[in-house]
Amino acid sequence: MRFLPGQRYDCLQCGRSCQGWAVEVDPATRGRLRDSPLELRVLQETGLTATLLPGEGRKVLMARREGACIYLDERNLCRIHGEMGPGAKPLGCRQFPFLPVETPEGVHLGLSFYCTAVQQNSGRELEEQSDELSALLQRLAPRRAGFEPLWLDEGVPLEWPEYLRLEAFLWEGLSGPDPAETPLAASLWGACQPGLKLDLARAPLFDTAQELWDIRFMCLAILVASQEAPDPESISAMAEDLKYDRPVTFPRLGWSGRRSLIDAEFAGLPDWVEQEIRRYLRSLVFRKFVALDRPVLQNLVCLFMLPALLRCFTLVSRLSHGGELVREDYFRALSLVEKDLTHTRQGAEGTWASFARLYRETIALVARYV
Ligand code: SF4
Repeated sequence: MRFLPGQRYDCLQCGRSCQGWAVEVDPATRGRLRDSPLELRVLQETGLTATLLPGEGRKVLMARREGACIYLDERNLCRIHGEMGPGAKPLGCRQFPFLPVETPEGVHLGLSFYCTAVQQNSGRELEEQSDELSALLQRLAPRRAGFEPLWLDEGVPLEWPEYLRLEAFLWEGLSGPDPAETPLAASLWGACQPGLKLDLARAPLFDTAQELWDIRFMCLAILVASQEAPDPESISAMAEDLKYDRPVTFPRLGWSGRRSLIDAEFAGLPDWVEQEIRRYLRSLVFRKFVALDRPVLQNLVCLFMLPALLRCFTLVSRLSHGGELVREDYFRALSLVEKDLTHTRQGAEGTWASFARLYRETIALVARYV
């Protein structure tokens, strides 16, 4: 088993993973809970039990009250864990915050950066917990990468050794002092060369193509709007407002104002924010984010957008309270990004496909003249 280098973790019992998102209940857990004294008591107290999610087959989700799982008690502890034992909890709860991925090189034990302890890098080194984690892994079902064909883009295959070369390129670039965009932009450029053959030797030429940075600005406005607009119909209007520096609202971060106010803050971002962004992106590379769920190119585009999005949300969080920028501002931004874009398999699906198309076509055009 491989661990994310330098990562620590011990549960802080903050209850965070039990709030704000839907927890799936696997059939075995459903069977254990059904008609148990605990389920009946919780049903009596809340009037709620696990619910069926309409439109997604027979998926069962844990019911929530005010956003929190009905089994979370007032001390932020899980009542299933307390009364029936840790093994009685839904599979996803037992696994969180671990995101294991089995590869031909072994299991990579990735982690969710939605978890407070993971964000803060607090607790024991993962290496120290190797025996416990190996035992836990026996009961989990890791995702798999590298055993099935991989796609660079739709219809364009990518061999696993080539993918590993790309991953090593990203890891090395994100481990140095350069801004996170440097290796990401370079790999995107290398992946979009004519003929769609991954060509990292041509990667540094990305810097010479101003058009690509201009596209990023436009994509960022759409991405921010897709996350913050009150409904899908308002996304383009909010993206336009951002572009033309008209007032916009970030409801989840509790701030309204013009984009120029955010722009004015960028120069003052402390270096630790950049280091944290690189740490997070390395963790995504480690947990095989680039190889999973979508063609590699779409995942590269997503990674390329994330640093700017994280900086933007961090600054908006700072503006929302008006004080000094603190780590909590960055962690708020990180939680939004991880919960809605990178943790779930569905995050912004159509967005990455259309951004990837835009990059692929523009790079093919620009590359002819570089
Ligand atoms: S079942 Fe327990 S661990 Fe899972 S979300 Fe509910 S309270 Fe949290």
